[in-house]
Amino acid sequence: MNIRGFIETSFLDWDGKISSVVFLPYCNFKCPFCDNGLLIENPEADLPEVKLEAVDDFIKRRKDFIDGIVISGGEPTIHPWLTDLIRHFKEKGMLVKLDTNGASPNQLTNLLTSKLIDYIAMDIKAPFNDKYHAAAGQKIDLGKVRESVKLIMNSGLDYEFRTTVVPTILDEPEIEAMARSIAGAKKYALQQFVPDHTLDERLRMIAPHPKEKILKMAEIAKKHIANTIVRGV
Ligand code: SF4
Repeated sequence: MNIRGFIETSFLDWDGKISSVVFLPYCNFKCPFCDNGLLIENPEADLPEVKLEAVDDFIKRRKDFIDGIVISGGEPTIHPWLTDLIRHFKEKGMLVKLDTNGASPNQLTNLLTSKLIDYIAMDIKAPFNDKYHAAAGQKIDLGKVRESVKLIMNSGLDYEFRTTVVPTILDEPEIEAMARSIAGAKKYALQQFVPDHTLDERLRMIAPHPKEKILKMAEIAKKHIANTIVRGV
């Protein structure tokens, strides 16, 4: 296993829960707005390995305080040992949330069938057209992402879809199209774009949409997903 980041205590990564967050390296997307460049470009040179024993030790000491573990990245589902890692935490009695870009429906199916996950947050990067490839920074298999959407919506689990509202990629028509494509979802989060550390340096010059605009976008999305929220505005 290969853990390249650990937040002991977070109030932000799982709504309503106090969580610890482990970050797994590498990703099969290259989103220009990604703010986790160190994790996806050359993580083994740039980030020290976090020993699983150190995570276990923290959990053991603070189990009464921590509700669950968030597995984030990078993209966790690219790792064949992800199931073993999640099972490891489940055996310690932890709830587990998975963050994913949805590119690996087979891995998701295995995890759902094994009943190892308690909550899933999946990114919806853009409408399901050429904009998605631009948002992912490369040509991707949109069919797989759509398959993951269906799997999650039919899973019976609690979940959310979430979108980082990048001004150069997304405006109101795109929000409408994305929300329509996941209509009836349990929860949808529009997240404010943060330009400080983007993978594509050109985006660091781009101002985020104003708060009022994000709130208006949320009203548009609510026509399709009643439980639409905003973050970071
Ligand atoms: S934002 Fe994109 S590139 Fe960055 S970790 Fe998520 S899916 Fe990968």
